[in-house]
Amino acid sequence: MTDPHQLLVRNPATEETVALVPAAGPQDVDAAVARAARVQPAWAALAPADRARLLRRFADTVDAHLEELARLEVREAGHTVGNARWEAGNARDLLLYAAGGAERLLGKQIPVPGGWNVTFQEPLGMIGVIAPWNFPMPIAAWGSFPALAAGNAVVLKPAETTPLTALRLAELGLEAGLPEHLFQVLPGYGDTAGRALVDHPDIAKIVFTGSTRTGREVMERCARLVKPVTLELGGKSPSIVFADADLKAALDPLSFLDNAGQDCCARTRILVQDTVLDEARDVLADALAAVVVGDPADEKTQMGPLISAPQLERVRSYVPADAPALRGSAPDGPGYWFPPTVLTGERPDSAAAREEIFGPVAVLLPFTDEQDAIRLANDTPYGLSGSVWTRDVGRALRVSQGVRAGNLSVNSHSSVRYWTPFGGFKQSGLGRELGPDALTAFTETKNVFISTEGPAQ
Ligand code: NDP
Repeated sequence: MTDPHQLLVRNPATEETVALVPAAGPQDVDAAVARAARVQPAWAALAPADRARLLRRFADTVDAHLEELARLEVREAGHTVGNARWEAGNARDLLLYAAGGAERLLGKQIPVPGGWNVTFQEPLGMIGVIAPWNFPMPIAAWGSFPALAAGNAVVLKPAETTPLTALRLAELGLEAGLPEHLFQVLPGYGDTAGRALVDHPDIAKIVFTGSTRTGREVMERCARLVKPVTLELGGKSPSIVFADADLKAALDPLSFLDNAGQDCCARTRILVQDTVLDEARDVLADALAAVVVGDPADEKTQMGPLISAPQLERVRSYVPADAPALRGSAPDGPGYWFPPTVLTGERPDSAAAREEIFGPVAVLLPFTDEQDAIRLANDTPYGLSGSVWTRDVGRALRVSQGVRAGNLSVNSHSSVRYWTPFGGFKQSGLGRELGPDALTAFTETKNVFISTEGPAQ
C-alpha cells in the first residue's frame, strides 16, 4: 500500500529500503512557491556575472561530491556506477555551461523609424520542474540549472522512486552559497504534488520529462492557465543498419539496454537491411550473451536492474515466454531483473514494435532499401532519436533528413550533449532543452521602443 505521506525509496538491485522521505502535498507546494517568490526578484536583479560566479561555485561543490552523488544514484536508481559517475559529471558540467550562458544572455538593438527598439530577455519568475526516475540527476539538472542561470527560481518535483540525488543537489547548492529557497526540491507523488505544481498560478512555466500519457495531461492543465510548457516524452528510436555498416559497432546492445533500456533515446527498433539479416542475428546473439548484468555497484557491470516491480511487470507484459527472441541472462532476484532481449518475430505494427517498453528489449525488423528504411523508421508516433549506420556519406545524409526525429547520430549511438539542443518531434515532446538557447527558453522577450526624436512638442 502506498503511504500518501511518505515515499519509500528502494534499492532496485536488492529491494532493500534505502530511505523513507516525507511526501509533499499541495500545501507544501504553495509554501515552496511563496518562499521562491520572496527570493527570486533579488536573484534576477544580480549582475549576470555574480549569478555565474555562484553557479560555478555550485559546480565546484558538486565536483567535490561526485563520487557520493554517483553512489547515491546507484542505490536509489540501480544505475551502473560508471553511468552514475557520468550523470553526476553531467550535472556539474551543465552548471558551468549555464553559468557561461548567464553572462551571454543578451538582448538586441533594432533600428526602426524614429528611434531604436531594444529587446531584453527577462526571467519568467518561478519554474516548476517535474523529473522522472530514469535519469534522476541529469534531468533534474537540465530543467533547473539553465532556469536558475537565467534569473528564475526553481521548484523541482523528482519522481517518487528517486528523490535522493535531487535533494542532495539542492543541499550542495546551499552549501555553495545559492540563496535559500532559490532551488527547492519537493519530493512527492505526481497526482498530488506534481499536479499542484502544474496548476499553481504563480509557476510561470513547467518543464516535464516522462511518459507521453502524463505529458499530455500536464499540457492540458497548463493550457487552462496559458502556461508555457516544455515536454520531453517517450521514444521508440530506430537504429538503421545498412548492409555496408560495421555490424559489430552498429549492433552494440548497449544502444538499447544501457540504463536497463530505461532511456527515452534507447535504440529499441533495430532495422537491418534484409541482405545481412542472418549475419546481424548472429552478431546480436553473441553480443547479448556477453553483456554483464548484475550488481550495479560493481565496476564491471554493464546493465543493472529495472527501477521497480511495476516496471518489471510492464516489461514482462511485452515479452511472452514463448516469443521468438535472442536472449541474454539476468539474476533471478531479489531485485527487478530482466534479461537483455531482442524480439525477432515481431511485425512492425505490433505493440512491442510501436510502444515504449522502457526495458532492455528491442525488436529486430528487416528493410529492403533506403526508402523502406525511412518509412519504417517514421512508422511510430514518436520522433526523439535514432542512428544511421552506413559507410555511404550521401546515404547517411539522405536518411538523416528523411527521419523525423530531434536527435540523430551517424555511425554512432550517441546523440545527447548538454551544449546541443535536445528534444523530440511528434509525440516525443515539445520545445528543446540544453544547447545555446537553453537559457532563452526560461525568459520572456520584452521589446522597448526608444524615440530618438525627443518628446512630442
Ligand atoms: P510518468 O510520466 O507518470 O512520471 C514522470 C514524472 O511525472 C514523475 O515525477 C511523476 O511522479 C510525475 N507525474 C505523474 N503524474 C503526474 C501528474 N498527473 N501531474 C504532474 N506530474 C505527474 O512516468 P511513470 O513513472 O509512471 O513511468 C511510466 C512509463 O512512462 C514508463 O514505463 C516509460 O515508458 C515512460 N517514461 C518515459 C520517460 C522518458 O524519459 N521518456 C521517463 C519516465 C517514464 P511520480 O513519480 O509520483 O509518478
